[in-house]
Amino acid sequence: MKELEKKQKIINYSRTFEKDKFSPIRSGNISIKHKRGNLEGFLISPSGKKNVELKTNDIVFVTMTGEAEKNKKPSSEWRFHLDLYKSCKCNAIVHAHSKFSVICSCLFKEIPSFHYMIALIEAKSIKVAKYALFGSKNLSKNILDAIKNSKSCLISNHGQITIGESIETAYELAEEVELLCEYYYRCKIYKEPKRISKKEMNMVLEKILKYKTN
Ligand SMILES: [Zn+2]
Repeated sequence: MKELEKKQKIINYSRTFEKDKFSPIRSGNISIKHKRGNLEGFLISPSGKKNVELKTNDIVFVTMTGEAEKNKKPSSEWRFHLDLYKSCKCNAIVHAHSKFSVICSCLFKEIPSFHYMIALIEAKSIKVAKYALFGSKNLSKNILDAIKNSKSCLISNHGQITIGESIETAYELAEEVELLCEYYYRCKIYKEPKRISKKEMNMVLEKILKYKTN
C-alpha cells in the first residue's frame, strides 16, 4: 500500500473516532507500519490536533529507531507504538479513550472471561496495564507486559489499545473491546458476572483462531 493511501486511512479512522464520540476531540491515536525507501518505521497521527481536522500532511513518519520526520510532531504517545511494533507481530495499532474502556480502566485490574467474545483478543481476559505517565518509557513497558500473547489491553486510568494485521482489523477489535467493557461494567453494577471456565474458554479460543485462519 502506498504512503498516501495509508495516511488517508489514518485520517478516515481518526474521523471515525469523533463519530459517536468513540475517542473524543484530540484523544487517541492510530498508526500503520510503513517502509519509506529502506527505512523501516510507521505512520502515526500527530500530537495535539483535533481528530476531525487531520490532513494527510499532518501524519508523521517515525523510524524504528524512534526518529520523527523533521518539522513534524508525532502523537505524544508514539513510544508505545514503536515498542509494540518491535515486540508484537502487527501492522496497525489503535489507541482510543473510548468511554467504557476508560471507565473499566479506572475500576478494574482485568476484564475476566465473563463473555466468550473476550477470546477475540486471542486471550482469556483483557489485562489492564499499570498506570504510568502518558508517553513515558514506563508506560510502554507496562503496556507490553499487559498485551503479551494477546491483541488488546486496557491502560489503567487511561483507555485501551488494540493491534491488528491491518487498520481495519485493529479498529474493529477496538470497537469490540469497547462493547465488552460496557457489558462488564453494566454487569458489575448488578453483581459479579458468572465466569466461563478455562476449559470452555480454551475451546472458544481454538474455534475463533480456526475461524480466522479459514
Ligand atoms: Zn491516550
